[in-house]
Amino acid sequence: MKLSANAVDFIDDARLQGLVADTKEDLTRAREIFRKSLNKEALSVEETAVLLAIESEEGLKELFDAARELKRKVYGNRIVLFAPLYVGNYCINNCKYCGFRKSAHGTVRKTLSHSELVAEIENLEKYGHKRLILVFGESPVYTPEFIAESVRTCYNVKVGNGEIRRVNINAAPLDVEGFRIVKEAGIGTFQVFQETYHRETYSKYHPAEDVKGDYMWRLNAMDRAFEAGIDDMGIGALFGLYNWKYEVLGLVSHALHLQKTCGVGPHTISFPRIKPAAGMDLDLPYEVTDDQFKRLVAILRLAVPYTGLIMTARESSAIRDEVIEFGVSQIDAGTKLEIGGYQNQKGDQQDINKEQFVIGDTRELDDVMHWLLTKGYIPSFCTACYRMGRTGEHFMEFAIPGFIKRFCTPNAIITLAEYLEDYGSEKTKDAGYRLIGQELEKLPESAQKQKITANLEAVRKGTRDLRF
Ligand code: SAM
Ligand code: SF4
Repeated sequence: MKLSANAVDFIDDARLQGLVADTKEDLTRAREIFRKSLNKEALSVEETAVLLAIESEEGLKELFDAARELKRKVYGNRIVLFAPLYVGNYCINNCKYCGFRKSAHGTVRKTLSHSELVAEIENLEKYGHKRLILVFGESPVYTPEFIAESVRTCYNVKVGNGEIRRVNINAAPLDVEGFRIVKEAGIGTFQVFQETYHRETYSKYHPAEDVKGDYMWRLNAMDRAFEAGIDDMGIGALFGLYNWKYEVLGLVSHALHLQKTCGVGPHTISFPRIKPAAGMDLDLPYEVTDDQFKRLVAILRLAVPYTGLIMTARESSAIRDEVIEFGVSQIDAGTKLEIGGYQNQKGDQQDINKEQFVIGDTRELDDVMHWLLTKGYIPSFCTACYRMGRTGEHFMEFAIPGFIKRFCTPNAIITLAEYLEDYGSEKTKDAGYRLIGQELEKLPESAQKQKITANLEAVRKGTRDLRF
């Protein structure tokens, strides 16, 4: 297993431990740091530690207000929607927290056949999804060629006006050649979560004899992906394995490392909290409470202003309702984790032996759309940047003043209208067009506004895939 040319272990354990233990609350300094973030500058690890040290009611209120404001400033009121699609759950590893681990004998093992994969994609398109993340266990069966072929299948399946326009991947880290093969199939983001940045804890949950037992192979994954030409990189930590403050500093160290060595930070950060899984009987002394979870999302928002934050349906609808304001930019909806789950009927019970873990938010896509719309968010299926080549270092989405106005909001409105026309329930359609009306009212009279209005009319008449 060959690491990338510039492989470095950028996790300075002693430094991170020291920052977590010794940084004391200092609101004067924290306020300077809020200003820096609101100026859209990424924070250093030390500055992030100052935010992690905030404990007072007054300080936490200011922290949440700053995160809310930054989210509005950088991302506007759009929330990007996607669905995970589990392709296969065979696995050679024994990660102690995962329902797919090799030793979980009760788990029903399956890899979707080509026709089953097609059926899943057709169902996802019928719900209205345009963006998928394909998820794989780690197995010699799931070669880069197999993953690439699954991606191509996603792009080729079309039902009615439905099509998949962006396919992201969450799979075991590959070598440079493997990443290159997958990249050629036209993927968006490749995600690899470090799980925990704390080496000792990493060894505790990932047996040394497993492929995944090699901490450095995983830590270096995104560098190899970048070397292979993938510049939309997704990183993450599984919260609950170790001290949440340490993991936040680990994520920020990782983001800064990528920025320094690749010239581009991570495209997304994920922060799943550990959920019950088949046969899981773990003692989790570091389980993250809801209050800590809210803080960690707000702090990540401020620390990496330009990185998308993904909150998955592992969280309950109530938590998603609260936390979304602090800086989340992408969520999944209508999620089914069972392999082949999108062919099942609505409201099916979750079966722990068929799923990687138990999810918290079981609402269907249309209900999630309705919820977002009534909260004033524009649910977006936009995939324009990636398809127009605006990725990686060229992906200036948030850096160029006016980018959101020129591209993101119009594209969000148009893709929302497509959804409303093709898949929206009556209540969602009402709420959706009401919100679109309000968004248009906010815009000054201009050529841009005329173009959006014309495109909306075209969508109503049946034209699809218009983009800015
Ligand atoms: N097998 C690949 C790997 O491990 O990188 C990718 C797929 S794995 C199914 C995707 C992610 O699910 C893991 O990186 C881990 O963070 C998360 N996960 C595993 N078990 C979980 C659990 N019990 N609760 C929440 N998330 C979990
Ligand atoms: Fe396998 Fe990934 Fe689960 Fe670990 S987290 S057991 S590698 S599917």
